[in-house]
Amino acid sequence: MVINEGQFLQQVASQKPAIAAIQIQMSEYQGEFQLSTTFMSTLKVNPNCKEVLKLQKWITTKKSENIEAATLKNKMDLAEHIQLKNIIHQQHSLKEHAFYTSNAIVNNIENKVELYYNACKGCSTKIINFEEDAECPKCNHPTKDFTSRYNIRMEVVDGQDVTTIILFEDLASNFIGCPIQEYIDSTTSFKDKEKSKLYKKMIAAKHKEFKFLIKLNKIGHSSHGHLSMVAIAFEQLPNTPNKKMPLHLLHLNNMLGKA
Ligand SMILES: [Zn+2]
Repeated sequence: MVINEGQFLQQVASQKPAIAAIQIQMSEYQGEFQLSTTFMSTLKVNPNCKEVLKLQKWITTKKSENIEAATLKNKMDLAEHIQLKNIIHQQHSLKEHAFYTSNAIVNNIENKVELYYNACKGCSTKIINFEEDAECPKCNHPTKDFTSRYNIRMEVVDGQDVTTIILFEDLASNFIGCPIQEYIDSTTSFKDKEKSKLYKKMIAAKHKEFKFLIKLNKIGHSSHGHLSMVAIAFEQLPNTPNKKMPLHLLHLNNMLGKA
């Protein structure tokens, strides 16, 4: 062996592997607990056994619990930062219940015409049947007693990769800058909703870069065919022109040989 065990462990430490060791020595040096190897010792990194899988699962769960308990701002900082392409192409190797952050540019608001849906007051299910005496199929609450809820679907891009990010509730209110009812009033009182300040603000989010916090158990497919996921938090990033161009510009530049 060219390097010793200490050097080796230092090299793999950043990957946080599970290490199985047999025949190692325990000692105490200046009040600190120490482990050292002998010529009889064997070390294995991520050995293929159920105990290791259990340990790794425990660590992920523990980390998720810690993030779950943190404030939204801290959640953003604690979560592992990955690229959109990792989520799109390697989602099966990522951990379903772990938190991740990813940066992306808003390319389009897919449902800008209607940023909300009519929801059952009992269970938030989307109401389709508004007939007199109709009931929610899920919780039997009368559907005439409904509420409007934000459901903003944004097409976001990171280089060549596209996905849909969904904002609900408080997150959507923060994004638009007002509660849902205020938005509805603002956009229906104008014949041409494009004159609404709030509508303009929403459209102005296009081409801006955001950092999104997501959890992979909230992942699905959008009507546009690409992956869609629910954001748990977001923050707008300072403008960095040309850093990551929206897809259509990138294609254009590729054609022109500029990229
Ligand atoms: Zn219901």
